Amino acid sequence: MSVEQAVIVRYAPSPTGRLHLGNARPALLNWLFALRHGGTYVLRLDDTDHARSTEAFAQGIIEDLAWLGITPARIERQSARKAIHDAARDRLIASGRLYRCYETEDELDRRRARARTMGRPPIYDRAGLRLTDADHERYAAEGRKPHWRFRLDGRPVAFTDLIKGPQTVNTASMSDPVLVREDGSYLYTLPSVVDDIEMGITHVIRGEDHVSNTGTQIEIFEALGGPVPLFAHHNLLTGADGEGLSKRLGSLSLADLRTEGYEPLAVALVAVLTGTSLPVAPQPSLAALAEIFDLAMVSHGPARFDPAELDSLNARLLHETGFDALRDRLAAHGVANEPMWLALRGNVARLGDVAELARLVTGPVTPVIADEDRAFMAAAREALPEEPWDDGVWDRWIAAVKSATGRKGRGLFMPLRLALTGRDDGPELRSLLPLLGRRACLDRLS
Ligand code: GLU
Repeated sequence: MSVEQAVIVRYAPSPTGRLHLGNARPALLNWLFALRHGGTYVLRLDDTDHARSTEAFAQGIIEDLAWLGITPARIERQSARKAIHDAARDRLIASGRLYRCYETEDELDRRRARARTMGRPPIYDRAGLRLTDADHERYAAEGRKPHWRFRLDGRPVAFTDLIKGPQTVNTASMSDPVLVREDGSYLYTLPSVVDDIEMGITHVIRGEDHVSNTGTQIEIFEALGGPVPLFAHHNLLTGADGEGLSKRLGSLSLADLRTEGYEPLAVALVAVLTGTSLPVAPQPSLAALAEIFDLAMVSHGPARFDPAELDSLNARLLHETGFDALRDRLAAHGVANEPMWLALRGNVARLGDVAELARLVTGPVTPVIADEDRAFMAAAREALPEEPWDDGVWDRWIAAVKSATGRKGRGLFMPLRLALTGRDDGPELRSLLPLLGRRACLDRLS
């Protein structure tokens, strides 16, 4: 790529389901690349499969991307671009690269089986290329409609992948792909290339399941006279068992992760950083990550998603997040001021946890006081400093209780914790105390 050429990338999901964590990976890799290079990010909805694409899924995808922090500069729908695809199809027909075929699935299955028994690769035999005008007329008279195949060059197509390095796809070992169905609708391959050319896409960043398509697509780019973009094929996120994350099963859908209370940045960082040379660790923002992230950091090995990494990253991010960034969401969970959040955040794994912790401050709390601690509690009440309280109140109080009772360590702190919060774990008492205030403390210590 020349320095002056502006980067244009596209994320091209089919709106046949909601996005899951695995789909977030190419969505974000494109986004980070666009941010890093000051490029343009196009969301291209590959909705040529009319039977399975829905507008509701399209809206869901836009919503899922927005939640992750991705705001496309443009949103395009392939279904609205059929005239452009048709014109490209006609050019390929005119140049003899698209040809008509009539085989049914059954016929193709039988031929493939026969080729295998004869020890030949099960590649389409190009029977369609040998049909005469009379043959086509006869099929037409029978009411049979053709599907259209792209005549491959049958040569090694080489490209330098920005992640995987030099790649060669030998199209001689592939069947000529069907680009147009009998009903005139398109499979994914052609409209994708046509739109990449027409939208000036400079970099195609997508999953490595598309590497062999790239051989075919580069031939189509060349046949249409379009510039061939640069390609980057990333490893796919898998579960711990190495199995793919399926879109249709709805497993780990972004919508579910959102409902479960995960932070979008935690989800985004896990989706990107898993299977790279960077650690799955907090980053202040996607923009900050974009400054240090390079496609070459995506590893060639597998990208195994570990749910425990998401949980711990989510918690670590929250422990570092200030009040202002979460103000509205915290208010919904009963936390309306900064000191309260700062006192509680270290004990929050997901933001929703804060609601229960907030009740430790606002109450009601049922103090737990053992019979043998009654005298100790009286001494603790006695030692409680008068208000106004400042940050030093905890140290002054504890020093006083210590010298009055001779207690130390767990024997000193645990009864106070149980009395003040009703629990044997939770946020530091040092930060809770000023939030409670003297009146509430006296009540709970009684
Ligand atoms: N719609 C295709 C997919 O979801 C797009 C692949 C590509 O990025 O070219 O797999």
